[in-house]
Amino acid sequence: MAEIKIQVKGYKCERCGHEWIPRKKEYPILCPNCKSAYWDKPKKKN
Ligand SMILES: [Zn+2]
Repeated sequence: MAEIKIQVKGYKCERCGHEWIPRKKEYPILCPNCKSAYWDKPKKKN
């Protein structure tokens, strides 16, 4: 049996770098690790 890597859609927090796979279909509001609501917003100058 060969080993393969299965790609699963997940999310990565832009703040703490935490990666996770959502169990719900809804778009995650908070990062489960750092609880940031801006986990999907990269840091910008403004
Ligand atoms: Zn985070």
